[in-house]
Amino acid sequence: MREKIQRLITAGTDGLDKAADILFPPRCPLCERFLIGREKYVCADCAVKLPLIRQPFCLRCGRPLEDAGAEYCFHCERTGWYFDEGRCTFIYTGALKEALLRMKFKNHRDYIPFFAASMAGSGRDFLKTRCPDMIIPVPLHERKAKERGFDQCALIGEQISRITGIVQRRDILIRGRYTSAQKGLLPAQRMKNLAGAFSLRDGTLPGGAGVLLVDDLFTTGTTINECARVLKEGGAGKVWFLALAAPEI
Ligand SMILES: [Zn+2]
Ligand SMILES: [Zn+2]
Repeated sequence: MREKIQRLITAGTDGLDKAADILFPPRCPLCERFLIGREKYVCADCAVKLPLIRQPFCLRCGRPLEDAGAEYCFHCERTGWYFDEGRCTFIYTGALKEALLRMKFKNHRDYIPFFAASMAGSGRDFLKTRCPDMIIPVPLHERKAKERGFDQCALIGEQISRITGIVQRRDILIRGRYTSAQKGLLPAQRMKNLAGAFSLRDGTLPGGAGVLLVDDLFTTGTTINECARVLKEGGAGKVWFLALAAPEI
């Protein structure tokens, strides 16, 4: 075994991935059983019951809609967003929700390839017709990134960038002010909590740039909207987003 791993380690990056697979065989992010045979990212049982958001969804924010005849959700009908449009991949529920929480709080970076591939796959047609110039992950405050050990949106964005060929920029939008968690706050309180949290490092963007924000969870839309506001004030033309998950409205 040791020789086999040694050989793989000396074989380059692909070899390193394979070596890691031998040392830490990949598990399904949803049910945590070991992947076998041709299973990639998730096990065959979970693959058929992924809570993917399908039509009908809100054409503005991408959240699932109950009424197949409606184009926009209740929130988008009455909210003047700064972002243009976005898509969410999964409904934030059940095993998927648990997996997202394990990624964030139990250091499961190993789920990121699955999350990124799912987002790039479900967002493929959306991206093809919008053609963003760059990906900007919703920035995490440095202190939080240090506490967590990694910045999940930046890692997801990096993999989406690799799959789609859209360049990721982490040097434009920064999170300056430390904010308390948004969970449990009402929309107006969330907005107040985030005021002044984001800014542009150099004050501007390449004029008219089309930006794709990447976030893990779209709930009230306050975070994405605040990022979009700052980007547009800095000269962005369009601001779209991809979010890994959104709760049912
Ligand atoms: Zn599974
Ligand atoms: Zn909506």
